[in-house]
Parts: sequence; C-alpha cells; structure tokens
Amino acid sequence: MKLNPADAIQDVQNFGEFGGVNPSISDSSTYTFMSAKTMVDTFEGNTDGCHLYARHTTPSNLYLGAALATMEGTEAANVSASGMGAITSVLLQLAGAGDHIVSSRTIYGGTYAFLKNFTPRLGIKTSFVDITKLDLVEAAITQNTKVLYCETVSNPLLEVADINGLSLLAKKYNLQLVVDNTFSPLSISPAKLGADVVIHSLTKFINGSSDTVGGVICGTQEFINELRSVNDGACMLLGATMDSLRASSILKNLRTLHIRMKQHSKNAAFLAEKFHEKGVKTVYPGLPFHPSHKIFNKMMNAEFGYGGMLTIDAGSLEKATILMELMQKKNVGYLAVSLGFYKTLFSAPGSSTSSEIPEDEQQQMGLNSGLIRFSIGLDNDIERTYKIIESCLFEVGVL
Ligand code: PLP
Repeated sequence: MKLNPADAIQDVQNFGEFGGVNPSISDSSTYTFMSAKTMVDTFEGNTDGCHLYARHTTPSNLYLGAALATMEGTEAANVSASGMGAITSVLLQLAGAGDHIVSSRTIYGGTYAFLKNFTPRLGIKTSFVDITKLDLVEAAITQNTKVLYCETVSNPLLEVADINGLSLLAKKYNLQLVVDNTFSPLSISPAKLGADVVIHSLTKFINGSSDTVGGVICGTQEFINELRSVNDGACMLLGATMDSLRASSILKNLRTLHIRMKQHSKNAAFLAEKFHEKGVKTVYPGLPFHPSHKIFNKMMNAEFGYGGMLTIDAGSLEKATILMELMQKKNVGYLAVSLGFYKTLFSAPGSSTSSEIPEDEQQQMGLNSGLIRFSIGLDNDIERTYKIIESCLFEVGVL
C-alpha cells in the first residue's frame, strides 16, 4: 500500500548530535577534510556524505530536502533561498538559447515576468496557453520545446492543471513537465501523477509562519545532482542557497503541515460555500461547479481537502479596496500579499501579485480588477469569522 504523503513525512526522523529529537543545525559555511584527496573527490562529485561548501550542500539543507522529497514521492530534492530561486534554477537548467517553453498563462506574476521579460534575453522563448485545454497545449509545442510549465492550482485564478494529461503530452514529445505545487501541498502529489519536477515556494503553506522565504525542487537524483554540479549546475552557480538555520526551522514547521492544511481547507470550503450561497462570485476548486472540480477530485489526496485559497469578485477595484481595508480593520485578516499564514491574508492580484501581467492579458484570462484573492487562515470558529466578513460585504455594497 502506498503511504499518504503526511504519513511518509512522519516516518522521516533524524536525531541530533547529542540524541536531540531534532537534527543538529550545521552552522558552518565550509567543511574540513582529513585528506586532500577526499576534497578533490568531493569536488568531482564522487563522495557521499561529505560536505564541501554551504552553497553546495549542508546537512540541515539535506534533511529538509529529504523530507520534502519523501512528501512528494521523488528520489531527491534540493532546497533554495526562495520559490523564485527554485523556479529560475530549474528553467535555466532545462532550457538554453534557442529552446522553447510552453507555460500556463495563469501563473504567479514573478514567474510570468521571468518567462516573458527575462528569459528572452537569453534566447529562450515561451508560449503562454490556457493549461486546462490540452489541445491548445499540444498545438503550442514546437520542435524546440523542452519544458511544459504549470502550477497545479494556479495563482491567482485557481485553474487546475490535469497533471496526468499533461504528463502524457510531455512523454509523447519528450519534454520535462515542471509543476509548481505551492497552492496544494499534500492535497495533490504531482510527481505521483507524472510530473518530472515539482517545485514549492516554502514561503507559503509549508513553512506556514510568514517569517521566511524558501523554495524546493523535487525530482530524480540525476536531475538534483545536475542542479548541484560545480561545473554547470544552476543551483550551485546561480547561488540561490537556503541558509541552514532556516532549513532547520522550516523542517520543524513541516511537521504540522498536515494539521494546518486540513484546517485551511475546512475553513476555505465553509467560506466559499457561504459566499456562493449569498450570490458573491466565488472561485474555489472545492465548489462542485468549479470547471476543474472533477479533475481535482481525481488527483487529490482527499483528506487534505481543496486547499486554503479562494477568490471573490467585489465588482470593481474601488469596492475591493474598501472591502479589504474594512476587513483588516475588523481583524478578519491582513491586507497583504503571500499566503499560507495562520491569519487570513487578502489582496487584489490585478494590482499586486499579478501586476506584471499587462492589463489586456489580465482581462483575456478573466483576471478582473475587483478580484480579491484570499488565503484563508486557521481560525478556530470560521462561522464567527464569516459573520464579520458578511457585515463588511453589506457595508461595502457587495451583498
Ligand atoms: N510560486 C507561487 C505559486 C507563488 O505564489 C509564489 C509567490 O507568491 C512563488 C512561486 C514565488 O515564491 P517566493 O516568493 O518564495 O520566491
């Protein structure tokens, strides 16, 4: 029987130097060698268990990477300084001058800007497509395509990618399917559905305390070794390295991810249903009429639910702004970007996290200026929270 991802993490335990219940933190940027030959061998990648320099590997980073690889069901993982550090390293490892990427058009604004504005300077072209339409994805593939890129649940429109379907296309055309799973940790396991590389921004749900940025790349041991290569590895050479102290604290927070995800999902599902009942335009993959509800059901590890992210349309940017300020005043949550915190966070993506996407393209993909993205918190009594939000919706005239 296959272990569910939370049980798999629970079975990962590394003791500390003095029998500590958490692994010891390696507070060093460089490591000694008893013999010069071992140092040379380590440089050449021929020694297991030796550390060279903290940009390459550290024991703390390896512990966190191993736990996350176990969670995603991949052979290995490499942690990075941020989610963008993971995304840019993977894409630059897999694509070079003359290559082409097919990407979902609804992705995090930073990733969109990287593909649209930055990688063309290096001779890499990207076609942006509606990832939910496999025929359009296939039509965009050219003989130069190397990578299919998407988010399992997209930021901010909450479109859901059919990972199985995309992986069949990736295999047919010999492409790498790279999936950013930041919005759906534990709920969906993309590698088990055929993704070649799975990325997370650890900044969000996985760390869960909005106190650090971090990222991870999960894949085959061969790919992770390539990323770490001292000669041509993007992680080693671009230098987006996680600090050991951070790796250690994220690993401790990972231990409660399953409990947090269940509560985020429970609260978000409750609010989404209430908003919808009241006639507010609501997007949540757990609502039965969400266009990808069935695909989500097919892919999900059901006990973790549909995640903590939902959107509502307040009708205009003006109304969205007044509503968010009011909700913050009434302590529903914070008017802030990012997600996965204990407290509810909300922002208007059109003018914040997705502002890198030109206005006409935002409109084409259905990103209205009145859209508010919520990352629902861990509130103990979500009915009480709903009543406060309802009073704000009335005051602003959304209800
Ligand atoms: N991927 C998604 C889906 C995101 O929402 C974000 C940030 O908001 C990132 C990646 C980038 O992560 P980081 O901010 O850790 O670099």
